[in-house]
Amino acid sequence: MDKKGVLIFPQWLVTVALESPKNGYGVRVLDGQFDAVGTREDLLAQYPDDGIWERPDQVLIPGFVDAHTHLYGVLAHGIPLSKAPDGFMPFLEDFWWPLVEDQLDSELVNTATDWNCSQMLRSGVTSFYDCTEGPYALPGVLTQQAEIVKKWGLRGILSFEATERVSKENGVLGLQENLDMIKWGKQDNGLVQGIMCFHTTFTCSDEFILKAFALAKEHDVLTHMHCSEGHYEPQAMLARNGLRTIEHYDALGVLGPEMLVSQCVQISENEINLLAKRGARVTSMPLSNCEVGGGIAPLPELTAAGITLGLGSDGYITDFFEVMRGAFLIHKAAHTDPRVMPANLVWHLATAGGAKAIGMEKLGCVVPGWKADFMLVKTVLPTPLSEHNLFEQLLLYCNASHVDTVVVAGQVKKANGIVLDADMDNLRLKTQQAAKRLWQKAA
Ligand SMILES: [Zn+2]
Repeated sequence: MDKKGVLIFPQWLVTVALESPKNGYGVRVLDGQFDAVGTREDLLAQYPDDGIWERPDQVLIPGFVDAHTHLYGVLAHGIPLSKAPDGFMPFLEDFWWPLVEDQLDSELVNTATDWNCSQMLRSGVTSFYDCTEGPYALPGVLTQQAEIVKKWGLRGILSFEATERVSKENGVLGLQENLDMIKWGKQDNGLVQGIMCFHTTFTCSDEFILKAFALAKEHDVLTHMHCSEGHYEPQAMLARNGLRTIEHYDALGVLGPEMLVSQCVQISENEINLLAKRGARVTSMPLSNCEVGGGIAPLPELTAAGITLGLGSDGYITDFFEVMRGAFLIHKAAHTDPRVMPANLVWHLATAGGAKAIGMEKLGCVVPGWKADFMLVKTVLPTPLSEHNLFEQLLLYCNASHVDTVVVAGQVKKANGIVLDADMDNLRLKTQQAAKRLWQKAA
């Protein structure tokens, strides 16, 4: 006899964001995976001994994959600044580096991670890729962070943004931090893993970049970097050797499927073609691109080129419904064309697309044998849901408060609208205290 699973019967079931939602269907969850998808009658007949969740007013949909975040970033929300930076490089040089990254220590990162894990689960994020930046938080910051993520039961990839900005020695420490995290993840063999990561071509030498890729290859992991988030990097590269950023990576021989390139805001048509040809993975952060005045990434063009693509919060506005609204709306305005970035494509990028981009296998679709990471969203909207409007209704008019249930690897993490085992008041208080400490330099 089969082991006992759980049958879930929502009003609507989204199995794959690029396909139509299903009405009258259910799903069976067993041992942390989706085991079967079928009609209500078939599932009840086949698995009469299973537990049953009746959710007649909810949509079951894959959990969000935040494919690029900085969990520590929450501490900078609302930080006092005497004046707004007047460009992307001033944003880094006058604000982000001296007042945020360079002030971080492990305790601040841990507090922010604890808070953000609760918030990710609150808004339906079940998996994420994080990039910690903080040259003076080395060493040991990532494995401490990993213990916190593990406690929450989220699926996460952690990395440290190695950079030679402070010194060559600090860059080497950053690479080692990633290696230590990769080793920790392999030993733990759980939901939290590591990859390789460095900053950019303007803070890392070519030798350093090649070293990062070589280490990643040795350990069979992806390598992440920020790329052309504003005009500065491509212009600096052009002045250096006549090549744009992606063209330079291709000339170095590292552009390929093992490369996870985030941002890609100021990239040319040739760079898009190169990303597609070499099979590199890309993540886009529509809201933070606005924040830093970096521009608007060519998302419709990247999707048209067939590039593996995901969406991220960048640690800026973290409710993933808001991130989707950014990706859905900004490109329509930029292209003066309401047809670009349809809702189901944006849902795909926020789920299966993101999972593929950050190298998580069998994740982001409700398919037998795939990981049981999903959410149940309440359909308390003023107009009816239907097959033709479901993705748009959820994307535009829902937020974290509509997420009733969140499940990661078959484990319930949020139920009846409440994140389990989370003392939100205490977490908020600790995060506020941490932010005040970080802001001392800025005030
Ligand atoms: Zn970032």
